[in-house]
Amino acid sequence: MKALVIGAGIIGNAVAWRLARAGANVTILERGRAGQEASWAAAGMIAPQAEAEGAGPFLRFCVEGKNAFEALLPELIAESGIDPEYDQGSGVLYLAFNDKDRAELGARAKSQREAGLQVDEISGEQARKIAPAVSPQAISALYFPHENRIENRQLTQAFLVAALKAGARLMEDSRVEAIETRGGKFAAVRVQGGDLVEGDVAINAAGSWASVIRGAEADNVRLYPVRGQIVCFQTRPNLIGPSIFSLRGYAVPRRDGRMLAGSTREMARYSKDVTLEGMEGIVRAARDMLPSLSGMRFREAWAGLRPATADFLPVLGPSPTIAGLYYATGHFRSGILLAAITGREMAAMVTGSKPAVDLAPFSPARFNNAGRHAGLG
Ligand SMILES: Cc1cc2nc3c(=O)[nH]c(=O)nc-3n(C[C@H](O)[C@H](O)[C@H](O)COP(=O)(O)OP(=O)(O)OC[C@H]3O[C@@H](n4cnc5c(N)ncnc54)[C@H](O)[C@@H]3O)c2cc1C
Repeated sequence: MKALVIGAGIIGNAVAWRLARAGANVTILERGRAGQEASWAAAGMIAPQAEAEGAGPFLRFCVEGKNAFEALLPELIAESGIDPEYDQGSGVLYLAFNDKDRAELGARAKSQREAGLQVDEISGEQARKIAPAVSPQAISALYFPHENRIENRQLTQAFLVAALKAGARLMEDSRVEAIETRGGKFAAVRVQGGDLVEGDVAINAAGSWASVIRGAEADNVRLYPVRGQIVCFQTRPNLIGPSIFSLRGYAVPRRDGRMLAGSTREMARYSKDVTLEGMEGIVRAARDMLPSLSGMRFREAWAGLRPATADFLPVLGPSPTIAGLYYATGHFRSGILLAAITGREMAAMVTGSKPAVDLAPFSPARFNNAGRHAGLG
């Protein structure tokens, strides 16, 4: 089977790896350079519970996604030769600064417990015992000791290198402009300049740009870029500690001493500008959580575009109108966490094996059936 993967972000690379390992003849088409968009800009949290705003099928998928990721990681490191710095055991502290915060976090903890997950509710003092740099103003916290972080740029590269070593081919500077069909079936992609690249199947993993590609409009799959800015400080290397969250931001340490503070959620079309307003909010939230950051050296700032759908759920599965066309996009805030499970499940689906998890809630057909969706837009 000749499979064309559109987009060399973490999702396209993970799908390409698993497809190549399943014996497919894989070509990845990337409009620019591999791994330079959202997957580069992310904070790298592998933290389904800390990131969840409510319980339900998506949280279950994210928890399963973390398990799938941890199961695949040794194989990924062995096959790629890249260590993506998975900080297992780092944990997440989610801080409350007032009664409103505490009530919101309490409601999240309750819904997660009802879903059978473990959540520790601890006092401000207990939080400061775990991470002494936490502000004295924090009154309580949720603690997720098993939630971790990773160097997402390295992880994206690891999926790509593993895919290439498994036989996949990468074509950079190859923007896919249109999907071409023959008799209602996928036949080829048309790349910038007009060349056709033929294949048996295509997987659209073009992130925020997935719906810019022409030819599948009847699917009604629409992607909305949601800008996220990050401000990066330089601290001492190897400061081991948890990632710190509040309802207004987060601070995520890297082994090399970088401290990533984030983020914003903005509709700014395809702009990746870093703005004063964005930085201001991020810096204030970070300093409220960790006052000692005030004295740290500013290093750099960047922004990336999270691929969101109208209902904020990913789009995983076959096109309802074109046989042989699949979607693997719309991972919004969770594409690093979900790359491994997406690769595994999409490869199973495309090669005709039974997926291990129920992907029905993420079916592309939901847009086609509903016709129109309220929400973003
Ligand atoms: C600030 C920020 C923080 C985040 N933090 C986290 C986090 O802590 N944990 C987490 O799990 N997720 C996080 N995310 C979300 C995560 O980054 C995304 O969900 C994930 O990177 C999406 O991966 P992707 O491969 O779909 O998209 P991308 O990485 O954007 O890749 C899409 C690729 O497709 C290419 N492409 C586009 N159009 C075409 C075309 N027509 N032809 C060929 N190629 C094309 C692009 O050039 C790009 O390389 C964060 C995102 C941001 C912005």
